[in-house]
Amino acid sequence: MRLRNIPGAEEALREYPTFVDNPVRYKGRWKERFGNDHPIHIEIGCGKGRFINTLAERHPEINFIAIELKAEVVLRAAQRTEKRAIPNLAFVQFNAALLPDLFGAGEVSRIYLNFSDPWPKTRHAKRRLTYSSFLKTYQQVLVKNGEIHLKTDNEKLFEFSLNQFSDERFQLRHITFDLHHSPWAEDNVMTEYEERFSSRGQRIYRAEAICPS
Ligand code: SAM
Repeated sequence: MRLRNIPGAEEALREYPTFVDNPVRYKGRWKERFGNDHPIHIEIGCGKGRFINTLAERHPEINFIAIELKAEVVLRAAQRTEKRAIPNLAFVQFNAALLPDLFGAGEVSRIYLNFSDPWPKTRHAKRRLTYSSFLKTYQQVLVKNGEIHLKTDNEKLFEFSLNQFSDERFQLRHITFDLHHSPWAEDNVMTEYEERFSSRGQRIYRAEAICPS
C-alpha cells in the first residue's frame, strides 16, 4: 500500500491506546496485554484497517492483532479507532518475516492474508507472503490445526499460494474463485483493496489453509 510518508508517524502512533510499542515484549504472553486468554487472530498487512476494526467490533470473544510493515499505514489504521481503547484490538508495526520474534509457538489461532502484494516477477517470488519460507514461519506460531484465511484479486498469486500451501502440507478447504457469489459472501468483511477491486468488476479469490500438526 502506497501512502505518502507522514513525518512523525511513529511518534503519533504512541497516542493511540490500540498501538503496541516494542511488541516483542509480549512474545508468549499476549494474554497479559489483553487481560484474558481468548484466541488470537492476526492480520498481516492490515493496510488502512477497515477489516480488522470491523472484526474486532463483531467478535469481542477474539483478540485481534493487526500487523503492518509501514508506520504511516498503521497510523491510518489506528486513526479509525479515534484514540479509543478497544479491549480486543492491537496494532503493531512489524515485519511478518520475523513473526516468531513476536509470538510464541502455538500462540496464534488464525492468520488473515488479505490482498497481499502479488510481486508478479518470478525473481521476487520470495517476497510473496505465501512463499514457502513465510508459510514455515507461520507454522512456528500457529496452534495445532491453526488456520490461514487468504483473499486476493490476483489469480496468479492465488494459484501460486494454493501450490505453496500444498507443498507445505497445509490442508486446503472452502476454496472459491468468486467470493462475492459464494456461500462465504454473507459473512465476508470487505477490505479497502477488496472494495476497490470488486467495484471494478474483478472477482475475488478466497481459500482457507489448515496448518499441519
Ligand atoms: N490488507 C489491506 C487491504 O486488503 O486493503 C492492504 C493490502 S496492501 C496491497 C498490502 C499491505 O501489506 C501493505 O500495507 C504493506 O505495507 C503490507 N505488508 C507487506 N509486506 C509485509 C510484511 N512483510 N509484514 C507486514 N506487512 C506487510
